[in-house]
Amino acid sequence: MEIKEYLDARKLLKEFTYDITPMDKGYSDKTLHINLSGNAITIKNVPQEMKEKFIGGKGYGLKYLWDATTPETKWNDPENEIIIAGGPVCGITQYSGTGKSLVVTISPQTDSVMDSNVGGFFGPFLKVCGFDALELQGKAQNEVIIVLDSRDGGKIRIEEAPKEPIDSHALSELLTEMYSKDEADKMKVAVVSAGTAADHSLIGMLNFSFYDKKKQRVRLKQAGRGGTGTVFRDKKIKAVVAIIPKFGGDINNVVDMKAIRERGANFNKEMKELDDSQCEMRTKGTAHLVEIMNDYDLLPTHNYKFGSHPDADNIHSEKWKALFMQGTPDGCWMGCNMSCAKGVNNYLVRTGPYKGESVIVDGPEYENAGGLGSNCGIFNTDYIIEANFYCDTYGICTITWATLMAFLMECYENGILNEERTGGLKLNFGNADSAMELLHQLARGEGFGKIAGQGVRKLKKYFAEKGWGDPQFMQDIAMENKGLEYSEYVSKESLAQQGGFALTNKGPQHDEAWLIFMDMVNNQIPTFEDKAEALHYFPMFRTWFGLVGLCKLPWNDVEPANNAESDEPAKVPEHVDNYVTIYKAVTGRDFSKERLIEDSERVYNYQRMFNLRRGYGVRKWDAQPYRAAGPVTNEEYESRAERYDNQLKEIVGFDPEGKSTDEKRIALREYRERQYQSLIDAVYLRRGWDENGVPEMEFLKKIGMDLPELVDLRTKYDKGEWKLK
Ligand code: SF4
Repeated sequence: MEIKEYLDARKLLKEFTYDITPMDKGYSDKTLHINLSGNAITIKNVPQEMKEKFIGGKGYGLKYLWDATTPETKWNDPENEIIIAGGPVCGITQYSGTGKSLVVTISPQTDSVMDSNVGGFFGPFLKVCGFDALELQGKAQNEVIIVLDSRDGGKIRIEEAPKEPIDSHALSELLTEMYSKDEADKMKVAVVSAGTAADHSLIGMLNFSFYDKKKQRVRLKQAGRGGTGTVFRDKKIKAVVAIIPKFGGDINNVVDMKAIRERGANFNKEMKELDDSQCEMRTKGTAHLVEIMNDYDLLPTHNYKFGSHPDADNIHSEKWKALFMQGTPDGCWMGCNMSCAKGVNNYLVRTGPYKGESVIVDGPEYENAGGLGSNCGIFNTDYIIEANFYCDTYGICTITWATLMAFLMECYENGILNEERTGGLKLNFGNADSAMELLHQLARGEGFGKIAGQGVRKLKKYFAEKGWGDPQFMQDIAMENKGLEYSEYVSKESLAQQGGFALTNKGPQHDEAWLIFMDMVNNQIPTFEDKAEALHYFPMFRTWFGLVGLCKLPWNDVEPANNAESDEPAKVPEHVDNYVTIYKAVTGRDFSKERLIEDSERVYNYQRMFNLRRGYGVRKWDAQPYRAAGPVTNEEYESRAERYDNQLKEIVGFDPEGKSTDEKRIALREYRERQYQSLIDAVYLRRGWDENGVPEMEFLKKIGMDLPELVDLRTKYDKGEWKLK
């Protein structure tokens, strides 16, 4: 179809003009609210208190979501919102990893608040359009596209758009073409979209586009976790587009550009000198991790049963390096020298509706290789690329899909599923064809694919209700916590990482804390108190990236040459100092590394209280599936028998000599489950929470979060008046 035909079919529902407020020290103090139920468009002023307490990004998302919803709001109620917000640092280009925005919503998977950190151009472009945040509320009657156009003053249009495709790669390319006059203009268009699988599942995600002028391709970054794309499609939004007139080097109108440039230049020098000998992010992206995880027995294999596999060489990072187009910049935001957004260019699609098309596939990243690949027993690069492409364009989270597929495969191998129950699909580990077909079924909203799209938590319940398997076994092997599927690391031998996954606010995603090397490999945090300290510091530190609009990767995926000699190498102190300097230089605010943690702590605890408001946020929901902590089956135990026998003898005080595998496995389980409870106690204490995991009133006061809504909630909870789920 010609572009004109798409445009001719459009119907303008609302046009709104406004004066663009330019950023000043990282903020405009204006946010945009769009309610699709009545096509109402409003610009709000950000109160000073909100700015001080919530900083930006995820903080703004949480605050707006709290105000917009009630404890009873369901994910598909019109009042649920999708909030997209950068943060004060988002949009600078002189330091790597500075274009991130945060997506916040009530999740269809967890029924609580979800946040997802995403690259691409939209976050910074929203700021060029004059807004610190965008709230999308209500539901459109028919399919709409929302356009924020700042080329000639500020204009916002809500248009019915019946003809445009839904799948992300096709829609993002079309809209980028539609809103640009020439090749150079394509850099000024940013598209947020989902895909057809988001229509039929709870695991939908959002794609944020960025134009790669060297490859002349529209590329995609994902706000993957927790079903953000499902909420987007439920509101009947096909896309949100931001168009800007030009991009200057200082959209934030910062206080001290010289300081930012200096830190940026130092960092770029480090990247140039050290990346090839450290993580090789510029040539392999995060896929460099595959063999490291395999070597340390951390690469999830066969639904996290094992941590390594002889065939892992087939998906080794050198294989990815050879497939990734090399020698062109791969930053998902301008000026990112880490350039980790690798992609397979000119990939010829082999299956499904786009068979025969030549596309660019963004990734695979480590999580895709470890999840779609080894965790499902499929050690095949072609399959991983194909599944990665379809997850992206269909708008579903690759991590979720991978962990879910691995769960289904283990269920299949244990007779919980069979061909009759899957509609003819043989879902044994390693079956790439069936796995691919299930994904296409989901996008079509058909068959067992549609059931699979409900996510692991609902699947295990469904299988149990059908009487298909032992509920306890399914509970043990279903790798979800709080309703969100685990990301792709084996945490069995790292108690701290078990907490790093299950003691998170949104569910087990590694963006809060990744402590496996500190804990398991380097033994730097041996006691419960040490682990609790790490499970305080790192989640708070990493939360801050999502408040200000930063990418976490440049923090520690390259480290200064002398980092190991610093006081606390795991914190990468020189890079922390870079962030403190940059934040001060953008905002002019008095700041320090201590204040950084304090800023995060306020928002982190607000999110914990938000979970409580939703009926969660207590100890019960911090439980982990036993597969995350130890061997569920005798097969698993025996695969690492020497390790486990030694632990029983030397740590647990249980003599394994002459004991059956069952006896040993049970003894180990009792020990590990006790350890996890002790870890929870230590972490709650360190975080200022009571023994049920609720922030203490005194603590909320101490950190300046004794806001009326939190005091009211905590008081009702204390009186037993708060309904928990
Ligand atoms: S490090 Fe990678 S993910 Fe982060 S901003 Fe740069 S290209 Fe994007």
